[in-house]
Amino acid sequence: MRRIAVIGRGTAGSLAAASVTRMHPDSGHELHHIYDSRIPVIGVGEGSWPSLVQELQKLTNLSQETVQQRLNGTRKYGVAFEGWGRRKRNFTHYFTPQQVSYAYHLSADVMADLLHESTRARHIDANVTNITRVKGGAQVEFDGRAPQRYDLVFDARGFPRKLNPDRHIEISFIPTNTAVIRRCPAIVRHEQDGPVVKHTYTRAVARPHGWIFVIPLTVHTSYGYIFNRDVSNLAEVESDFDEFLEADGVPEFEQRAVIPFPNFVHRKIYDGVVARIGNAAAFMEPLEATAIVSAQIQIGMVLQMRLNRAIEHLERDAPVVNRFLISNMLCYGLFVGWHYSRGSNYDTEFWRFARHDVWPRHRTAAAPEAVDCTALSKFDEMIDLLNQPVIDKEDWDRMCAVPLTSYAQMSQGLGI
Ligand SMILES: Cc1cc2nc3c(=O)[nH]c(=O)nc-3n(C[C@H](O)[C@H](O)[C@H](O)COP(=O)(O)OP(=O)(O)OC[C@H]3O[C@@H](n4cnc5c(N)ncnc54)[C@H](O)[C@@H]3O)c2cc1C
Repeated sequence: MRRIAVIGRGTAGSLAAASVTRMHPDSGHELHHIYDSRIPVIGVGEGSWPSLVQELQKLTNLSQETVQQRLNGTRKYGVAFEGWGRRKRNFTHYFTPQQVSYAYHLSADVMADLLHESTRARHIDANVTNITRVKGGAQVEFDGRAPQRYDLVFDARGFPRKLNPDRHIEISFIPTNTAVIRRCPAIVRHEQDGPVVKHTYTRAVARPHGWIFVIPLTVHTSYGYIFNRDVSNLAEVESDFDEFLEADGVPEFEQRAVIPFPNFVHRKIYDGVVARIGNAAAFMEPLEATAIVSAQIQIGMVLQMRLNRAIEHLERDAPVVNRFLISNMLCYGLFVGWHYSRGSNYDTEFWRFARHDVWPRHRTAAAPEAVDCTALSKFDEMIDLLNQPVIDKEDWDRMCAVPLTSYAQMSQGLGI
């Protein structure tokens, strides 16, 4: 495995390129980091899971304190839900162990720059037009350049243009598809001599047309209104967003973007030679910030297999890894979709649609015959465990993408 390509320079591609540099045992390997500078990165993605803290320390060889400061970061101890569920009570989904384990709120563009400093690669600014399997590898074709052959290709080109049922599993049980992003003044102040150690949380505030995230960084605060453009129109969402910011005491904001997004999992994330990662592999709305952690899992599994297993196992390993990754992404999807199952403080068209029309689709959309994996039964097993009067100790560490403790906290909080 001497010639490797990473296509894309967003969060996923940057993580992959730094991971190849760090994990490849042969320093003579050739890594090409390819991206088209005319296609911008998506640039959002400011919440994470705790595994990123250790991962960035390993990839950069910098202390956690330095990494956090370089990222304009704060310490995220969980997600604070406001107005969700039927209990009419706010609650927090903490990382476990509670009040100890933390992730980062981070500036996405700065994270890519930080990772580039730890990457040894030849940088190629070009448009990739095609990636095809050839004997023992893959050929990458470019616009205006000769094609190149690689032993492994990470495809991190972002969202697919259009979903195709032959290639993508649509996560049709998540009710949102659009985000309005605004940037507001910082509410957490930069410390002179070290990282901000104050505990912070991503706020997820239920609103009539969906929900609003609030992510505190040291340089600004990010706000995003997540809604369904087929249910609510942009003008009414913007107007409710204005009302929310005013009530929150935010004096000014910069309108950043309106981003439509698909909720999906690619049916072929990994075929042994080409690995789709990041938004090219799967995406679901950002309620539990599952995108960066998904990219970490995709990159980690593919590199572990390709660097540590003998090549003769490749054809047998690839479908097993692919199925594991699809199942993991779908489990995240089921966990996120389930958050809508008990509605919110609002009895509006959006919340009726989310609760009564969209969430019930999960049983057919994630049925094993439709998705060729057992994500749904894994999810059902977690719900069954929560329904038991006593949970055996050997089950405490069970996971369905996220730990049982996360399911228990959400179930309590939402009143399930
Ligand atoms: C509203 C919203 C909020 C989000 N919040 C979070 C969050 O809190 N936490 C989280 O983990 N994630 C979040 N995400 C997800 C976030 O988008 C991803 O974490 C992350 O940015 C991954 O993007 P990417 O690297 O896969 O793709 P992109 O950032 O889209 O990068 C694609 C790259 O591919 C290159 N490229 C594209 N086509 C070609 C081509 N043909 N040839 C060559 N190069 C090409 C581009 O130049 C670019 O460098 C959020 C997403 C949205 C929409």
